[in-house]
This record gives sequence, C-alpha cells and structure tokens, in this order.
Amino acid sequence: MFTDDTIAAISTSFAYSGIGIVRLSGKNSVKITNKIFSPSKYKSIKDIPSNSISYGHIIDSNKEIIDEVLVSIMKAPHSYTREDVIEINCHGGPVPLRRILELTLKTGARLAEPGEFTQRAFINGRIDLAQAEAVLDVINALTEQGQKAAVEQLRGELSKKIAAIRDELLELTAFVEAHIDFPDEDIEPLSLDEMKKMASGIQKALKALITGSQFGVILREGLKTAIIGRPNVGKSSLLNALLEQDRAIVTEMPGTTRDIIEDHLNIKGIPVKIMDTAGIREVKNIVEKEGVKRSLRAMKDADLVLVILNGNEKLHATDKELIRKSDPKNTILVINKADLPQKLIPPYPPLLKGGWGDFQRQTVRISAVKGTGLNDLKNKIVKTTLKGGSLSSTGLVTNIRHVKALKKALSSINAFIRDSRKMSPEFTAVELRSALDAIGEILGITTPEDILNRIFNNFCIGK
Ligand code: GDP
Repeated sequence: MFTDDTIAAISTSFAYSGIGIVRLSGKNSVKITNKIFSPSKYKSIKDIPSNSISYGHIIDSNKEIIDEVLVSIMKAPHSYTREDVIEINCHGGPVPLRRILELTLKTGARLAEPGEFTQRAFINGRIDLAQAEAVLDVINALTEQGQKAAVEQLRGELSKKIAAIRDELLELTAFVEAHIDFPDEDIEPLSLDEMKKMASGIQKALKALITGSQFGVILREGLKTAIIGRPNVGKSSLLNALLEQDRAIVTEMPGTTRDIIEDHLNIKGIPVKIMDTAGIREVKNIVEKEGVKRSLRAMKDADLVLVILNGNEKLHATDKELIRKSDPKNTILVINKADLPQKLIPPYPPLLKGGWGDFQRQTVRISAVKGTGLNDLKNKIVKTTLKGGSLSSTGLVTNIRHVKALKKALSSINAFIRDSRKMSPEFTAVELRSALDAIGEILGITTPEDILNRIFNNFCIGK
C-alpha cells in the first residue's frame, strides 16, 4: 500500500444520474487538477481558498472542453483523508465521468483501490478501524435503525467505549507486569483483590457489549427468518402479504438504480431477511419428505422460524414433526387461513409429553389473503427478537468481527480472574496481553494486515 502518491476514482455510481463525482486525494491533487480545470473566477486553482467550491470547465490538453463542473477543494489536514482532496462534480453520465477520470490518470494520478480513500483516513489517524467499517455500514444499512447505529459508530461512540476498556486493561497490565519486573522492590503494586476488582469491571463492560451485540448484529445483518410448513398452508401468500406492506425502505425509492432486494422486510424497524424465498415460492409439487428436509435445513441457520399451519385443517403428522423440531425461543407458530372455518383450535392436540407448553404463547392466528392478524404477527416477531430488550441503536456492537474480538478478550479476562490467585504474574500477564490484542483489533491497533486488506476490499472504488 503506497500512500505518498495521488489517487483518483469515480466516487458516485457509474450510471446515468444528475451529477457524478471524480475524487482525488494526495499531495499532487491540486497540481493535477490545475492542469485540467479552468476556473471561471480565478486565474488558477492555486488561488482558490480551501473548503470552497468553484465553477469552471474541465479541459483536455487540446483545450477541448470536456464538461462544465463544480470543483471542491479540501486542503490537508481538513479533508476526508487528511490529504489534499479535490472533488470534481460533473454531469452524472458514464462518458463524462470516464473521460474526466482518464484525464486525471493521464496527468499523474493512480486509480484508487477499493476503499482506499477511507483506508487513508484510517492510516492518517482521522478515524479508527471501527469508524472506517461504519462508513460502509452507513451505506449498506438495511433500515433506519441500522443506519442510526452505523452513524453513531462513525461518530466514534463505540470506539470510545472500546478505548475506555482498553485503558483499564493497560493499567491493569502495567500493575501485573510491575510484579514481574520488580518482584522484590518496594513498589506498591495493587493488591490481588484490587486487581481482581479491576478485572471484574472490565469483564462486566465486555459482557454488556456482547449482550447488546445480539440485537446489534441483527440490525446490521438482518434477522435471518425461515418460513416453513407443508405445501399449500400459505407460505408464499404470507411472504407476499408482508412484502407488500413492509418491503425494506431501500427498495421503495423510485428512480434509484439500486437492485430490488427481494427478500428484505422492515418489520417495525427490524431488518428481516427471509431465507430461501425461491424455495417458498417455486417449490410447489415436491414430495413432502423433501419439503420437510428443506424446512429443517432452513430452520438450522435461522434466527427466527415461522412455522405456518393451516387453521382450516387438523394438525398433520408433518406439522407435528416441524413443531417438535422447533425451539419455542425463536419460533412463532402461525395459524393461517383464519377466514375459513377453524379446525385447529384450542385445546391443541398434544405434541410433546408436556403439551404445547411454551408454544402456546408463541402462536398467532392470521389470514394471509385477507391480511388479518398480520400486525399481531409483527408484534410477536419484534417481541421474540428483542427478548425483553428495547429497539435502541445507541452504542451497539453490530459487527460480527467486533463480537468475536470481544469474546476473545472476555475469555482471556475470565482466565486471568480464575488464575490470578494460583499462578505467577508472568503467566497471568499473558492473558491480559492477549485481551489487549483482541480489543486492539477492533480499533485497528493490532489488526493483522490481511484482515485490514479484507475489510477495505469490501468497499467500492471511490469510497
Ligand atoms: P404455500 O404452498 O405454503 O406457499 O401456499 P400458498 O401461499 O401458495 O397458498 C396455497 C393456497 O392457499 C392458495 O390457493 C392460497 O390462495 C390459499 N391461501 C393462502 N393463505 C390463505 C388464507 O389466509 N385464507 C384462505 N382462504 N386461503 C389462503
């Protein structure tokens, strides 16, 4: 990764739109733009003050006008990357965008790698790694709540919490290591009890973040939901009814070029990702045994399972099998076709030795074609997902990479607490160092190069 050269890329989508932006960053940004931009009010770009926008034309070496543009200048260090950044706002068509980009490349810029602008912001210390990841999360957010959580992370709310835990860990490590380095000296190291108290505080903070991440990760990734049931119970009718009412907001914007995300719902702020929509819609006449197999497979990977039953019929053996294999903690039994005469009514036939038990509370009656009961179903989905928590987006850990690092740190702290009485500080300090490494990975302090590259490779070129 070179950071002393000047990079350029198209930062908007490469499609027909109102405006398009070619962005440059690096020490030659101004020099390169000076050769291709003719401002109307100033003699040269060098006379234009930083953090301002000027009108003019992009011209090639033959003085041919390529486009009419607005150019923003953000001089280092007050820019996205902390380097000199120029943004050329041109007309948003593939041809003007490509021609302007090519001109910058001919004049000395290099085409940016994916995410390289954000990577420079990270390398130059304007943002840490968790904030850099949040940039992508703001762009890819599935719902308003998810976007709010990402903006908070971008503002550094999560980083502050992580940094506070890291500071505590550093202090504790220093005390433990002082025991190793000067065992006989008269320094006043923390007593074992005090160290344990400090470690318990760190343990508590880590646990709180991990608990919040259960919902946080759903906000970022979507709640993986399986709709299962026998053929003809109304799975695809329910999916259609929900899609009609709750298609995720990203798909509702008219005129956007973004692909329609077929299987994303926004249920009262929770992004719900329906699994195997093709299977629900298209697999009609498969043998029932194969259908059950498919259902069980989908169930295994799901955060939430909706078992659809036909209220107009008695329970079939297959229904019973599906219910028995479900976990009431993440399953809702949806009795469909409530508009028809009901045969599936309480008291329900016994399924297990203990009857319906926890499933009783997890049952909702709907009519997918008439739309009745859908609101009850949505409320149940929210309740089952939040498990008593609230739909908050403040200071949440949303990224699985961060959760893994927090769990690693927690297991090291647990080991430290367990061993600190019986082992020598040489050994217990190792646990603290490993907790520090894990926490540092979140902020990008100790993150290995290959992981950094993988993170930035997920960005688009120009971000
Ligand atoms: P799937 O095989 O489980 O996906 O079932 P479908 O959604 O294709 O529905 C099978 C049949 O049941 C279709 O003829 C639907 O119109 C009908 N159906 C689905 N939901 C309802 C409902 O709530 N009430 C009634 N009366 N019919 C329904």
